[in-house]
Amino acid sequence: MAQLYFRYGAMGCGKTMQLLQVAFNYEERGQKVCVIKPATDTKNGDKLLTRIGPERETNFTFTKHDNIFNKIKHEYRDVACVLCDESQFMTPKQADQLMKVVTKLDIPVMCYGLRLNFRQQDGGFEGATRLLQIAHKVEELKTICDCGRKATMNTRWLNGKLVVDGPDVLIDGTSNIEYRSICPKCFYKYLERDVKAPARKAKQQLIDSTKKGKK
Ligand SMILES: [Zn+2]
Repeated sequence: MAQLYFRYGAMGCGKTMQLLQVAFNYEERGQKVCVIKPATDTKNGDKLLTRIGPERETNFTFTKHDNIFNKIKHEYRDVACVLCDESQFMTPKQADQLMKVVTKLDIPVMCYGLRLNFRQQDGGFEGATRLLQIAHKVEELKTICDCGRKATMNTRWLNGKLVVDGPDVLIDGTSNIEYRSICPKCFYKYLERDVKAPARKAKQQLIDSTKKGKK
């Protein structure tokens, strides 16, 4: 009986690399795989890229309106495994469609992705949330923070400063944006330094300037 896997981890834990390794293992045994990802991740087009070099074309990318079950049923019925990268960007409905691929077509599906978005506060990625709810196997891929502790949080940095608001997907070639995986302890340290302390300072300046205006 095939199973649905969700392998999640913070950025930089080698999710795509592991996906490519699994694809390679199947193909080495002469079996076909179907590699897919959501079309949201536009910067790489239809390719999967890894930070250390290896890359691969996807078999197809899908938008929020595509039915992945139908696509696989009609065009990839003969594959030994479906591998999905950037799974957090799928819709909850599409996660259910992948469960149908597993149960009705008896094809194992391995989804790789982030568990939580960089804002840390709201519901996160709804595709990832659905996968956490329904997958037969949920596995964490671990990575280490600069301080040596386990990194569990995805964070966005703008010009060297932590940011905790903005859209999930940022398509902007001009600003100096980075993503880092860090531990909760470092997160709260940088949150204080880059977000909370500057906000208090700005508030105080506003109060001071209002007082001056009244004199
Ligand atoms: Zn840390």
